[in-house]
Order: sequence, then structure tokens, then C-alpha cells
Amino acid sequence: MINIALASPKTWSSVIRLTILATVASLLVSLLFNALAFGDLGQRTLQRSLISALVAPLLIGAPLFFIIGWRWRSLALANSRLGDLARTDSLTECLNRGAFADRVEDLLAGTGMEMATGSFLMIDADNFKTINDRYGHEAGDQALRIIVRSIRTILRRQDIIGRMGGEEFAVYLPETALADAAVMAERIRRAVNLAVFTPTTVPHQLSISIGGVAFDTPTNFARLFSLADYHLYAAKNDGRNCINLIQADDTETTPDAIDAHLG
Ligand code: GH3
Ligand code: MG
Ligand code: MG
Repeated sequence: MINIALASPKTWSSVIRLTILATVASLLVSLLFNALAFGDLGQRTLQRSLISALVAPLLIGAPLFFIIGWRWRSLALANSRLGDLARTDSLTECLNRGAFADRVEDLLAGTGMEMATGSFLMIDADNFKTINDRYGHEAGDQALRIIVRSIRTILRRQDIIGRMGGEEFAVYLPETALADAAVMAERIRRAVNLAVFTPTTVPHQLSISIGGVAFDTPTNFARLFSLADYHLYAAKNDGRNCINLIQADDTETTPDAIDAHLG
């Protein structure tokens, strides 16, 4: 019964449902008990005992069940907030690495053969150490927030962004083929490049490098991550502030090359 009443214990309607169901249940138990215990003592006594059987469930039970439901709701809300905190990167407010990987794995596992299309981007801030060294760690933190905000201006509702660590971010673009992913990656690169970051009186131009992979056959997070990361380093080698994107099945990147890259 508690499960039915508290299908979603975070809502007030489930608190009310629990109160009503639990009160009705305790009323029935109380009436049944009194009917069995005093049934043979005559009609008048039975009537009185049944009336008195209503008192405790209604006057004590109902408020008590309401308080239990209310406390339960508070706990469920606190629990859900803790879950959100555990999944979120506190600096940039995007998903942290574990939560991002889980979400992408779930999406990849959920897509059927015919729907297994998408793109995965790895994004790394260029020369970020210089920003920290020149303007301090606080300014570096601010730059990371600006980078994420700029990336988000380009993302669509279905896209997912996660912080993979340090100044590295990943973006998953569901059902997005290579050509569209390339357009989005370029928009992201440009948005970061144009973002206003003024750690001193003189603005500092931010830039990112993007490595990415588009896929159209079933795959998994680890493979997308290593391919995109490999091409991120290719983008760094190409001079930074640029994009290096491929189709997953292209033979240009051999598994050996990736293994060597990953060490
Ligand atoms: P590259 O263009 O090759 O990526 O150079 P880079 O300087 O960005 O790369 P490197 O890996 O040498 O330095 C990354 C720096 O990012 C070093 C680290 O102190 C800084 N960093 C990582 N996480 C944070 C953070 O949360 N806040 C700040 N302010 N800095 C961070
Ligand atoms: Mg970097
Ligand atoms: Mg890095």
C-alpha cells in the first residue's frame, strides 16, 4: 500500500494519498476488531464500540500518517538533491565524468540497430595553464565557466555535455551525422573564441581544440571516448583552435594508433 501511495514520494499528492489510504486501512482494521470483540454483546454495545473504533484512526492516525508522509517527502527530496549533486560538476554545473559516461552508455544501449547514429566530441581548452599562470586560478575557474556557457549556447535540448576532468569536456550529439556534427563543432569553437573573458582590463581570447567521431553502427562509450580523444590530440598537433572530426569506420585511424596514443 505504501508503495502505491508513494509511487513518487516527492509530490504532495502522494502524501495525501498515503494519509487517506493508511487512515482508511486503520479504520477498517479497528472496525473489524471491534465487531469481532463486541459482536456478541448486543446491538447497542456493538454500535457504541464501532463509533469509538472510529476515534483513534481519525483523530490520531490521520495526522500521524500525514506527518509520516510529509517527512518521507522531505527525505525523498533531499535524497534526489544529493543524487543531483553527486552527478554534477560543482564548478561548471555540467555532468561529471561518471554521470556523463553512464548517460551516454544508457543512450547507446537504448538505440536500436537502425538508430545507432550520433557524434561524440572531446573539447580541450587551449594553453589553459598560461591562463592560470598569468591571471590566477580564480580567473581560470571563471574561464572554464565561460567556456561551458559558450558551448551550451550551441547545444540543442537533446545534446549532453560533461566535464571529463581539468579543462576537458565531452559532448554527445545523438542522431547527428558527421556533416551536422562538423557544423556544430565549428559553431562551438567560434562561440568560445568570441566569448568575452576579461580577467584584467585587457580581454583575453579563449580558444579550444575539438576532436570528434561520428558513428552509424552500434558502439560503446569507451570506443567513442578513445577515438575522439585521439583526434583531439590530432587537433592540438594541427595548431590548436581547430577541429579534427572523423567517421568511426574510416580506416584512417587504426586501433594500433589509438593504443599507442593511450599508452
Ligand atoms: P594544451 O593547449 O596543450 O591543452 O595546453 P594546456 O595548458 O591547456 O594543457 P595542460 O594539460 O598543460 O594544462 C591544463 C591546465 O588546466 C593545468 C591545470 O592547472 C588547469 N586546470 C585543470 N583543472 C582546473 C580547474 O578546475 N581550474 C583551474 N583554474 N585550472 C584548472
Ligand atoms: Mg588544454
Ligand atoms: Mg587537457
